[in-house]
Amino acid sequence: MAIKFSQKRYDNMEYRRCGRSGLLLPAISLGLWHNFGDVDDVKVYRKTLHTAFDNGITHFDLANNYGPPPGSAEVNFGKILHSDFKHHRDELIISTKAGYTMWPGPYGDWGSKKYLVSSLDQSLKRMKLDYVDIFYHHRPDPQTPLEETIGALDLIVRQGKALYVGLSNYRVPEAKKAINLLRKMGTPCLIHQPKYSMFERWVEDGLLSLLEKEGVGCIPFSPLAQGLLTNKYLKGIPKNSRAAKAHGFLKKEDITKERLLQIQKLNELAQNRGQTLAQMALAWLLKDKRVTSVLVGASSATQLKDSLGCLNNTHFEKSELEQIEQILKE
Ligand code: NDP
Repeated sequence: MAIKFSQKRYDNMEYRRCGRSGLLLPAISLGLWHNFGDVDDVKVYRKTLHTAFDNGITHFDLANNYGPPPGSAEVNFGKILHSDFKHHRDELIISTKAGYTMWPGPYGDWGSKKYLVSSLDQSLKRMKLDYVDIFYHHRPDPQTPLEETIGALDLIVRQGKALYVGLSNYRVPEAKKAINLLRKMGTPCLIHQPKYSMFERWVEDGLLSLLEKEGVGCIPFSPLAQGLLTNKYLKGIPKNSRAAKAHGFLKKEDITKERLLQIQKLNELAQNRGQTLAQMALAWLLKDKRVTSVLVGASSATQLKDSLGCLNNTHFEKSELEQIEQILKE
């Protein structure tokens, strides 16, 4: 049964232009890396998807290998898309990727044309879609000529299987080369998806300025450092948190004493601003207009609602920014 979504869903979201393209993306997008696999509770993630769309989140980010098991996030998302969102496909930006290990043998990994084309065909089947809005190469492949990988992205767009293409985890020199190749082929690079948060700053060293110059959007992933930049680990590791799960990518070892001290101080600063730490961490990224959208994860609708609250204040006083830098240096 198709769901009736809020008529006011576009009222409070900010939409930012993605580089110099025609596409606007919501300031907050939802990623399905964790929390949407067969190991997760359908009632919970269905509600998260409804909450997202009801609040103006139009962009959902997937990859061939999201689960676990790999592929299950696309299948589960596809089911809900066709039941609950069936009248809204044209209001949605759906992305997927290939680049990490997906199936055994030499053709299920990295960046060959063979892998990218067949992986996207599989993703489309899993989601029961004719096309995705954005298809990414998930990570650079040092063994495959960049011309082949980029040629495959161009082909996929010409075949109508993706409207736009993007790069993920490409460092500055390879991103520059790939963006130029794509432009020459007539399929401009829409967007780059790097890891970026208060705890992970490599993009500030040349990538953001490259993307701005080239007119390419930027959508940081793991903006909450997988949950570290929230108040959830302040009193230990909660059951059901990513760090407590065997398949979670956040490891207990990542939660060091030093980290916890920083988190505590950041949490106090956030409270002084009248925000939760999650809200402050997202606002801190969105203060930079080169950031098109922040790509959050959420294991519940409540978490997502909290994160959405960041849009109420993305302004930082100079003194607050200095305090944050000081804490991050400690
Ligand atoms: P986040 O850094 O946003 O971490 C999400 C986790 O943080 C949630 O699962 C939850 O943890 C916790 N959380 C979220 N909101 C709150 C809140 N308001 N209060 C308290 N805790 C909260 O992002 P992810 O690491 O999940 O990555 C986001 C997306 O980025 C992925 O889904 C994927 O689409 C993309 N990505 C891309 C990669 C790439 O290589 N291109 C790699 C990794 C991610 P808990 O589950 O413990 O409750």
